Amino acid sequence: MIMTESKESKNYTSQIIEDIKIWKNGSLFSIKTTKDASYDFQSGQFARLGLIDPTRTVNPLIWRAYSIVSAPHENFLEFYYTIVNKGEFSKILLNLEQKDHIFIEKKAYGFLTINQFLGPNIQKQKNKLWLIATGTGLSAYISILRDHNTWKYFDKVILLHSTKFLDELSYKKELEILSITNKRFKYFPITTREKSSILSESRITSLVMNGNLEELTKETLDPKSSKIMLCGNPTMILEMRRILYDRGFYTSKQNIAGNLAMERYWI
Ligand SMILES: Cc1cc2nc3c(=O)[nH]c(=O)nc-3n(C[C@H](O)[C@H](O)[C@H](O)COP(=O)(O)OP(=O)(O)OC[C@H]3O[C@@H](n4cnc5c(N)ncnc54)[C@H](O)[C@@H]3O)c2cc1C
Repeated sequence: MIMTESKESKNYTSQIIEDIKIWKNGSLFSIKTTKDASYDFQSGQFARLGLIDPTRTVNPLIWRAYSIVSAPHENFLEFYYTIVNKGEFSKILLNLEQKDHIFIEKKAYGFLTINQFLGPNIQKQKNKLWLIATGTGLSAYISILRDHNTWKYFDKVILLHSTKFLDELSYKKELEILSITNKRFKYFPITTREKSSILSESRITSLVMNGNLEELTKETLDPKSSKIMLCGNPTMILEMRRILYDRGFYTSKQNIAGNLAMERYWI
């Protein structure tokens, strides 16, 4: 039990953890929390979560960014996280229990949202949305996929989720069901360090460079009709960004909507 006081402030509220799902023991978890009635966000944004570090005597309340997994219409908040070795926040997350309190900043942040792509000339239904994630970078995309709005603007949504091992492919069942019930959605799990019947021992960057991605997905990476999101590991994002710039993908600037958006989880 994490001893957090249920105090609130003008910047944050205290919410209760209602459910904890273990995807991989000691390593990958999702939590569902209560949601303040006034909490407002767009799918793809992140929240700032606060927990009390009992080992700190000064400033015990610490904060980290976490992408919101739940969609804006859902009446709870959901987060998906990994436990980082020796991570200050991770060690508190690891000991969370149901009914513990967690602080959530009142404001949501971030630009990994479909709004980034919605310039005045976007034609509804004619676009392809590519969601490319490593590890917990998947979090933001679950929200986007659960959001009904996404399907108004995109004719097709293609998700590539890359992990090292098979047992790190969290949310796989939900995504497989979606790919069966919604023919406009394609899901490609990739494992880089474990052989499996699914796409394995490939890196996303190599798949794009050698053209195998388009062959595999049967979709073209055309900068006119494709919008791409990258989320997770900063090295993957840096490499993909270079490759995609050469192919005509660019991020939004001031009033010009781009076709590439990204979120790095660390530096
Ligand atoms: C915008 C944004 C959204 C984020 N969303 C998520 C999320 O949805 N889920 C999540 O687990 N984390 C997310 N993170 C990372 C998160 O904020 C924490 O940094 C992380 O959980 C570890 O915190 P820590 O204090 O335990 O370790 P830290 O001291 O913050 O991190 C230590 C090191 O661990 C590694 N690391 C950090 N985060 C990850 C990660 N997610 N996967 C693998 N290695 C990592 C990095 O090498 C980092 O330098 C997000 C970060 C940002 C900036």
